[in-house]
Amino acid sequence: MLMKLKFPLQRFLVYFTICIIGIVILNHFSAAIIHRTPTIAPLLFPILTMFLMVFHAMIAAFMVMKYSCDKHRLYLTPIAFAFAGSAILMLGTLDSFPDWFMCTGLTRVNYNDTLIFYFFRNIMMAFLFIFAVILYAFKKREMHTFKIHTIILVGILLFTLGMLLLSWLYSSHYELLSVDFVDNNTYQFTQLWGNQLGWILIALWVIALLAILVVTQLNNIFWYSGAFFCACYIFTLIVLMSSGHSAGYTWYEARLFETISTMFLILVLLCDVFTLYRQSNTRYMHSYQNSIRDPLTQLFNRSYFYDTFTALMPKVATGQPISVIVSDLDHFKRINDKYGHLQGDKVIQFVSKVLQDSVRQNDVAARIGGEEFALLLVGASSDVAEGIAERIRVAIASQDAESSQSQLPEPITISMGVFTATDLTVNVEECVRRADEAMYRAKEAGRNRVVVWE
Ligand code: GH3
Ligand code: MG
Ligand code: MG
Repeated sequence: MLMKLKFPLQRFLVYFTICIIGIVILNHFSAAIIHRTPTIAPLLFPILTMFLMVFHAMIAAFMVMKYSCDKHRLYLTPIAFAFAGSAILMLGTLDSFPDWFMCTGLTRVNYNDTLIFYFFRNIMMAFLFIFAVILYAFKKREMHTFKIHTIILVGILLFTLGMLLLSWLYSSHYELLSVDFVDNNTYQFTQLWGNQLGWILIALWVIALLAILVVTQLNNIFWYSGAFFCACYIFTLIVLMSSGHSAGYTWYEARLFETISTMFLILVLLCDVFTLYRQSNTRYMHSYQNSIRDPLTQLFNRSYFYDTFTALMPKVATGQPISVIVSDLDHFKRINDKYGHLQGDKVIQFVSKVLQDSVRQNDVAARIGGEEFALLLVGASSDVAEGIAERIRVAIASQDAESSQSQLPEPITISMGVFTATDLTVNVEECVRRADEAMYRAKEAGRNRVVVWE
């Protein structure tokens, strides 16, 4: 991996530009809207928390689905746990606003608990992000066995559960353990938060961001959004720490940044889904075309010809005739013997092109044997089909080496048999057999001609 390390200046410049523009816009937006509002509805904070909780749960589910589609993406699992754990911890945050679902407004708020849940949420997410980057670095290593995946998943699960438990214990739910980040009477942040823990969180997010930049080199939009996510969290913490107390506007700003960076991540994940969908659709179309076409001539193959004929046959009952023209090159063995198989192939390709160009888009031109072709003309009466066959016969017979730009080594002729189905008394196989029979009559009558089955 180290060998590949080349400084991707351009990507980093794009990233830093996005971050600076994004953060400046967000900051300007919050300064213009949030700070100008005389009083913010107290319910806004728990409502934003609920939104964020749903978004984070969605991201977690998305990561799990992506991992289950491709087990080599083990690095997505720590991110899934980070967002799932975050969504659960937001339940704790909501619990710190016990009146959030009442119409009376918020009379009791436990800001200390809110910050404790926030602190553990950040620690857990930053660590899991770092772990995801480590797993990404080992993505191509021989580590994708059931046993190793299970060990890693259990490890991540235990870590996440540990973080959930600790945050629950340290919040006011358990009396033996307690920590003070905010004085719940004055709403002032304590020294412990302002001087130490806040900085530790910023340092953790900076490490996560640096790990993403160095290891992934932002080689796809997913890691761009991951790095943007880290930058938003760093900025959020700086904004939070710049304020001395917890009841002010900064909490709303913090939630706004978090929500916007989360929505950006969701947008990127959706783009990812559509890109994957487009890719798989293109691949499917490509392999479908391969399965219905003959590789040498790109005409339809025999099985597609029969399938389409069977599907179209009921149209005959509505009064639309269907004509089949079966053709075979005359004395083709001689061409192969005289000029070789490669030149023979060129002749087959040349004739195929003439056939394809002579029919409408809805008609089917197929190669049903070595140098045998079949045309399916929907809505063409016997006379019309005979006319088309005659035109093709003349078009082929009138070419020579010069006019065909050496595709034909010498002039070549084709024998053709026509049969038109006008009712459902004959089945598909019988229709083709009759056209074939007419073609053999054309051979017997001296070749280079069109015979209509009678
Ligand atoms: P006829 O006028 O009676 O049809 O005489 P013919 O020599 O064309 O006889 P037939 O149709 O039986 O010969 C088919 C020949 O086509 C035999 C085979 O060598 C050749 N052939 C079949 N498939 C291919 C192919 O994909 N490429 C090439 N170059 N030749 C092929
Ligand atoms: Mg032949
Ligand atoms: Mg043949």
